[in-house]
Amino acid sequence: MNVTLLNFTPDPEKTVVLAAKLCYSDSSIGELEEKVRGISYEKFLGKILNMGHHSVLEHVSFTFGIEGISRATSHQLVRHRIASYSQQSQRYVAFDEGFEYVTPNSIASNTAIKKDFEKTINTINRVYKRLIDLGIPPEDARYILPNAAATKIIVTMNARELLHFFHLRCCERSQWEIRDMAARMLLLVREKAPIIFSKAGPGCVNKGRCTEGEFTCGKPDEIREKFRNLSINKNYV
Ligand SMILES: Cc1cc2nc3c(=O)[nH]c(=O)nc-3n(C[C@H](O)[C@H](O)[C@H](O)COP(=O)(O)OP(=O)(O)OC[C@H]3O[C@@H](n4cnc5c(N)ncnc54)[C@H](O)[C@@H]3O)c2cc1C
Repeated sequence: MNVTLLNFTPDPEKTVVLAAKLCYSDSSIGELEEKVRGISYEKFLGKILNMGHHSVLEHVSFTFGIEGISRATSHQLVRHRIASYSQQSQRYVAFDEGFEYVTPNSIASNTAIKKDFEKTINTINRVYKRLIDLGIPPEDARYILPNAAATKIIVTMNARELLHFFHLRCCERSQWEIRDMAARMLLLVREKAPIIFSKAGPGCVNKGRCTEGEFTCGKPDEIREKFRNLSINKNYV
């Protein structure tokens, strides 16, 4: 899996601070720019976000390039509606060299079943190529492709939606692949907007208590530690 930050709103935290200040001030926008110079963004944003004034977060967006995730995961990702997506098409792209795929660790670590998995993928690949060679359009040949087939997607989300996305998808209740992807996204945005995303993560991190009820993983301290120490070379699953 490869997750990169392609673009983002410049000065994200200043943008959010300006938007919030504007709501409570009779100053012109030019004067506001002067007024926010030198104030503590941490204190001001902390207050605003604690009040639940989260709409100001919608003024900043982040665009990610994501490669090497499975179609199973991209399907989970695109259930998040407050976002924009552009995904590599299986209708227009024929995988002449065979399709790439993702193997879950639970399968990769079981030698016997891994063989069966790979054998099945190879059979699918062979029949897929045969369909293409026979002139079947890629949009129909793709019906044979599995959930494991790898995909590429460009995603844009605003900061408010990202916090919601991290709340759901960084949680241990989410599947390992989307959890891994969400952690990588969080790491990238935290570098650009450390105040906004300082407490981002599952309920035990952002609310200070598990929000999953009977489905709790039961290890909030471990999870909090993980989100305190996110780093690029870590395996997040
Ligand atoms: C652990 C886990 C297990 C899951 N299991 C299943 C499953 O078995 N089956 C399944 O179908 N899905 C499942 N999902 C997907 C889940 O139901 C959501 O579709 C997905 O998480 C997107 O979240 P969302 O709807 O909160 O947010 P988004 O689409 O990201 O929207 C963000 C927020 O905007 C608001 N919003 C967006 N659209 C509307 C709307 N039309 N009306 C009102 N408010 C809106 C809501 O407050 C929403 O929380 C699962 C998700 C998780 C994290």
